[in-house]
This record gives sequence, C-alpha cells and structure tokens, in this order.
Amino acid sequence: MTSLSLKGIRKSYGQLPVIKGVDLTVDSREFVVFVGPSGCGKSTLLRMIAGLESITAGDLEIGGKRMNDVDPSKRGIAMVFQSYALYPHMSVRDNMGFALRFAGKPKDEIARQVNEAARILELGPLLDRLPAQLSGGQRQRVAIGRAIVRHPDVFLFDEPLSNLDAELRVHMRIELARLHRELQATIIYVTHDQVEAMTLADKIVVLREGEVSQVGTPLQLYDDPDNLFVAGFIGSPK
Ligand code: ADP
Ligand code: MG
Repeated sequence: MTSLSLKGIRKSYGQLPVIKGVDLTVDSREFVVFVGPSGCGKSTLLRMIAGLESITAGDLEIGGKRMNDVDPSKRGIAMVFQSYALYPHMSVRDNMGFALRFAGKPKDEIARQVNEAARILELGPLLDRLPAQLSGGQRQRVAIGRAIVRHPDVFLFDEPLSNLDAELRVHMRIELARLHRELQATIIYVTHDQVEAMTLADKIVVLREGEVSQVGTPLQLYDDPDNLFVAGFIGSPK
C-alpha cells in the first residue's frame, strides 16, 4: 500500500525556477495523470519523484517515509521513458531480466519474474527475439516488462506512447488500463495528450509553468474547469 505526498516541492536550475511549489497526494493504487503543455515541468517533477533530479525545496514522501535524499534504487519506484532504449544485442528475455541480474538475483527467480511479466504483457511467444525483430508497440511492452519484473510499489511513465502511431496508442491505452487493474499498482503517468489523460486517469493534475493549475477526476475537470487554461486544455470551453 503505497501513497505519495508532495509538499511545497520546488526545483530551480541555477536561478531559474522550474517547479514552483507543488502540493499533491497520490493515493495507493491510484492512476494519476500529469498533463500540461511542453515545458511546464512534467518530466522534471517525475524525475524528482524517481530521484533522478535533486529536490530544491519541499518534502517528498513515499509510503509515509521522507524520500528527498534516498537513493533512486531504494524508493520502490520504476520509471518507463518515452525513449525506451532496449539493449539491441539482448533477447527480450534478457532485456527484461537485466535489472534483476544486475541486482544479483538467482537465475530461477529471474526466470519466474520474467515469465510472469511476459504473461501479463502477452510477450511469451516473443521472449527469444531481439528488439530489432519487434514492432514499436511490442518494444514498448518490453520496456514496461523491465519495470514490472522489479515489482515496484509505484510506476512512473513519462509519455510512454508518444513514439507510437495513433492506432497503436489506442491499443496501448487499453493495455495500460488492464495492466493497472491486474497489478493493482500506484501509477503516475505523464502525457500531453488529453484523450490519454481523460481515458486513463483516476485523477488528473493539470500543470502550468511549474505550478498545479487544477486537480480533479476527468469528469470534474471536464464539467467544471477552474480556469480558461484548464478548460482549453481539457477541451471544454467554459
Ligand atoms: P515537460 O516535461 O513538461 O515538457 P520539463 O520538465 O522537461 O517539461 O522542463 C520544464 C522546464 O525546465 C523547461 O523550461 C525546461 O527547459 C527546463 N529544464 C529541464 N531540464 C533542465 C536542465 N537540466 N537545465 C535547465 N533547465 C531545464
Ligand atoms: Mg517531458
């Protein structure tokens, strides 16, 4: 049961403030989507939660523990990026097992975890292929598989579908919703695609220039946007 809490989170690069005081709670098993225009700070916020960027000010708690200065590998988090570079010379099986091998897990446990992830992602028949022998959607599923085998408490996704064509994006949206139900995981998902946000989210966080503009369920944001920015972004002019 892992919830997250962000209190007064700030990030500056030199003198330049990029995240300007974000307060937010994410409940255990919630699917939370960060939306907002390019450059508003979505990736920066996600990278701070993952521990890939330092936090300039504020408190980050995961599962009730302060995590500001905790090593990324000890936060119980796995992140899936837009550019999901797979190891080209490794099979799907070895790509998915890599982090576990790196962590020194025994072979039979690695095999078990990889087979379980392959089942969930319907990658079983592809385990012996190389990345070059996969479609874009299949490669993205392998990237998600690499996260699943680690059994994280929290999944962070940074625009994972934006390199896929429209048809595949629709298919992957359905897959992600199923994945969330099956894994019962807490997910924070970044996108600049309103449709993705509206269909996947339990809760949407609209970001604008490093600040939270509004938080609500898709229906709340659609029916009752707080301001023109949210209305314009979600696509229902007030
Ligand atoms: P988004 O993911 O919403 O498109 P980012 O989080 O990538 O936005 O970036 C937010 C802002 O922070 C942008 O103005 C970007 O130029 C700036 N930024 C991101 N990373 C750095 C960095 N390493 N150094 C300086 N500025 C950065
Ligand atoms: Mg980004």
